[in-house]
Amino acid sequence: MRLFTASIATETNTFSPIPTSLESYLSCFVARPGEHPDQPSLCTAPLFVARRRAQQEGFTLIEGSCFFAQPAGLTTRRAYETMRDEVLGQLKAAMPVDGVLLGMHGAMVADGYDDCEGDLLDHVRAIVGPDCVIGVELDPHCHLTLKRLRLADVIVLFKEYPHTDIVPRAEELVTLVLKTIRKEIRPVASLYDCGMIAFYPTTSEPNLSFVARQKSFEGKDGVLSVSFVHGFPHADVPEMGSRMLVYTDNAKPKGDALARQLGEEIIALRGKTAPPDLDFVDALDQALATNTANGPAIIAEPADNAGGGSASDNTMALHELIRRGVKGTAVAPLWDPVSVSFCHAVGPGGRVRLRIGGKTSDLSGDPVDADCEVLAVATDRWQSFGDAKAAVGDLAAVRIGGVDVILNTNRCQALGRELFTDLGLNPKSYRLLVLKSAQHFMAAYGPLASTVFYSETQGPSSQRYQTHDYHRIQRPKWPMEQDSPGKLIA
Ligand SMILES: [Zn+2]
Repeated sequence: MRLFTASIATETNTFSPIPTSLESYLSCFVARPGEHPDQPSLCTAPLFVARRRAQQEGFTLIEGSCFFAQPAGLTTRRAYETMRDEVLGQLKAAMPVDGVLLGMHGAMVADGYDDCEGDLLDHVRAIVGPDCVIGVELDPHCHLTLKRLRLADVIVLFKEYPHTDIVPRAEELVTLVLKTIRKEIRPVASLYDCGMIAFYPTTSEPNLSFVARQKSFEGKDGVLSVSFVHGFPHADVPEMGSRMLVYTDNAKPKGDALARQLGEEIIALRGKTAPPDLDFVDALDQALATNTANGPAIIAEPADNAGGGSASDNTMALHELIRRGVKGTAVAPLWDPVSVSFCHAVGPGGRVRLRIGGKTSDLSGDPVDADCEVLAVATDRWQSFGDAKAAVGDLAAVRIGGVDVILNTNRCQALGRELFTDLGLNPKSYRLLVLKSAQHFMAAYGPLASTVFYSETQGPSSQRYQTHDYHRIQRPKWPMEQDSPGKLIA
């Protein structure tokens, strides 16, 4: 038995001003055959799992190239086609294969390609033929198109948000693909479109229980896999939205009924899945009124989340903290390579006049001009997210009055505590942390926090979806339209 695996992944925010080039992938994560590390990266879990299973179960795994770019705007046509053709060339050389495992994010949009994953699957299927089993692992923030459903044999999504279950879901995917190759099962898909888009953090109810509910159906009564497609709201592509995916062992009516039932449960939760989305000034009022004896209050800034394609250089929160003279506060991370280079030139203990943030577009706000004390600098760092490590580039911590700002060179969201600890700072010692992230910060920072608030500042990953200038998404779609029914679409 021979399997091929590869990965091309990013999450494209079509409202982001930041272009995604081939260099964006090569400088973020690339591993070509023979270069794959022992640990999984963000979308390479199928490779990581299949490598171990190949040794245990005696099949041959051919490892192709894996690419990942930090979420941003459209991928260039040249970048996508170059990566695609590299992987397809490897696949052709690997033929014949019994199975293909692809680790993809599922919300990649390139110039000329609304559905990169569907396009890649189209080319893969043309090479491997109808009998080869194709399995795909996707992020729940994907656009699960009908084209992908038709071309893949089985698709498994992460269930947790923050995505702490990438490896266990890859394990399930590999198991389903191997069983299908051995003709022990015949996966048949059912897909229900919920007619909506929303934010579903699984660290709080009702989403926490809904994860357990999905799992409760799996592995019995012919149900092979249940995945909930959260959808990625910051993309203006036709099939953006929340969907419910069920695979049964050749029991289509049963899968249809379950996909419909769970999809209707999500519809019934409209308006209840997301935590309150406060204006930043209101979140700040509440955070400052919080008892922080047991840990800092945290205010998340989803609108400027680099992990959703934003610049991470918006200054609204920083301006407000300085204006109010708030003490014992930190903002992290703020993307500003120029300021970081100035801090590294001056060194710890020095003072420097910086123009911070506010550079990328009008959504970044006005820069903050301030005399800063350089607290610490660090070179070529990373932060951890589960087993994965994400590069943050060079770091600098500066103090402006009572506000510490963690600046970095490699645009990223707040994931691991290394943002602070690598600079000799203790995140728990602050009264308030303002973190540029939508939800992934919760894995490392949630356990530290006395209270967590989600605030609205400004940026292309705003949680106020009605402010997005959609032209191409299928309508109606809640919350833009109140009357938006769900339907079984496959
Ligand atoms: Zn995601």
